[in-house]
Amino acid sequence: MFRIDLRRMILFMAIMSVLVMMLGSFYASYLVQRQLLIDNTLDANYAYAAKLAESTQNFIASAQQQLAYSASIIADEFDHEDILLREAEGLRLRTNSFNSVVIIDADGWVRATSPETLSLTGQKVTSANSVQALRERRPIVSQPFMSLAGNLIVFISAPIVDSADIYHGYIGGSIYLKDTSILSSLLGEHYYEDESYLYVVDQSRRLLYHPDPGRVGEVVGANVVIDAIIRGESGRQRVVNSRGVDMLAGFARVPATGWGIVAQRPFDATLEGLNDLTWKVVRNTLPLGFVTLIFIWWFARLISHPLWQLADGAQHMDRDGTADKLRNVRSWYHEALQIKRAMLVGIGLVNTKIGRLNRDVQTDPLTGVLNRRGLDAVLDEWRAEARPFAAIALDIDHFKRVNDTFGHDAGDSVLRNLSLTIQSCAREADIVCRLGGEEFLLLLPSTSAASAAAVAERLRRAAAQDVVDPVGRITISLGVAALPEHGADAGMVLRMADEMLYEAKNGGRNRVVVAG
Ligand code: GH3
Ligand code: MG
Ligand code: MG
Repeated sequence: MFRIDLRRMILFMAIMSVLVMMLGSFYASYLVQRQLLIDNTLDANYAYAAKLAESTQNFIASAQQQLAYSASIIADEFDHEDILLREAEGLRLRTNSFNSVVIIDADGWVRATSPETLSLTGQKVTSANSVQALRERRPIVSQPFMSLAGNLIVFISAPIVDSADIYHGYIGGSIYLKDTSILSSLLGEHYYEDESYLYVVDQSRRLLYHPDPGRVGEVVGANVVIDAIIRGESGRQRVVNSRGVDMLAGFARVPATGWGIVAQRPFDATLEGLNDLTWKVVRNTLPLGFVTLIFIWWFARLISHPLWQLADGAQHMDRDGTADKLRNVRSWYHEALQIKRAMLVGIGLVNTKIGRLNRDVQTDPLTGVLNRRGLDAVLDEWRAEARPFAAIALDIDHFKRVNDTFGHDAGDSVLRNLSLTIQSCAREADIVCRLGGEEFLLLLPSTSAASAAAVAERLRRAAAQDVVDPVGRITISLGVAALPEHGADAGMVLRMADEMLYEAKNGGRNRVVVAG
């Protein structure tokens, strides 16, 4: 069954959090940049509209000043037609502010015009603007209006009052909004590269300037920006215009005329660059993200590797060398170290237990020396090492009688005592086995037959001197053979020693027979 492992889990978790974080920051940066673009566009449009409104205001103010100055010059010379004519002409040509100039007397008669081609001189003017100027006798900027010739015009006038404070009429200048005038070139200087554009409305929602010349003069319907202008406000606003286009608009008012100047850019055009910008952010972030992922991958490996090794060790606890493998695991952090220690302690306990079981299995319970299985294990080892050895096979003489006479328990005591005697005659490295019954085998590693014979003789005497209650003395017979002197392998040598024991029995018992 597939189980997700720790490393995959750490990887998954870390990668997910990196991705979520990256997506989050991308989204955040998208939002921030979007807002920044919107705010910047609104600010730029407002600044532009405000600048133009100020310029227009200055232009109107200077036009009014020029009219007032001309009015002061002709006020005391109002009877001199030629002076009036010269001033009208002079004003138009000097200032370049007006498309035409007229001087009207207090009764509404035209006294002078420039250019003279207007041929109005001598006529009576009855237009609403004129009537208003004559009635109010103060400087006036008219609402834009359509002239008879089809020009959209603004008319500016100044009253003519002489030094004796007598009102003589007014001097007025007209400015064509559509054709070339200072005002139209001022407003028309806008650039349209980024789809942004400019328009101007008056108090009656009429378009005074628009990049589409066909719309000049049109009265604009529902539009919150124009509503705000009419309320006398300036500012910036996102607005859906009368044509249903979402716009970012900045708008400002010209105080002298009440006009509103609106600079705006379509919302969609503003955000066009945003996707590129966001992709740029993503592209710039990717290398770092990639490095982060590699680092996470490496770190996940670093964390999980010791645990993986420990888990592998736990799975193969029974194999040789597992403890060494576990000891070599680099448990560089607390938990892995604790687990490693616990496992090593566990394996130690298990090994001890197994060792004890092994020993029990290989030990004769009566005497505590090795049994046949233990002997086999020793011989396996020695065979692997090709170790030479001598074997002394020994058997108690007439042991059946001991049992018969003194009982089985007494026989056991004799066996135990004899095993102690054998052990006391053996060196540390020698192996003592009880092969069954009252037969023992003494293995002497790296020993010649001659040395073994001496040991056997010593053992025979020692056994013969022991006294065990209530049995008294016993004797033993011994057969000696050695590897490689008396056989090619351990089996042959043991059989040879056994044969020598048999000969010792046959030879009268209580003796040592060495293979010849
Ligand atoms: P021999 O001199 O020819 O060896 O004579 P023997 O009487 O020793 O003959 P044998 O080797 O045939 O007899 C072995 C006896 O050892 C038979 C059995 O009663 C006794 N015996 C075997 N195992 C044990 C044991 O564990 N405890 C006791 N008490 N006696 C045992
Ligand atoms: Mg015997
Ligand atoms: Mg026997």
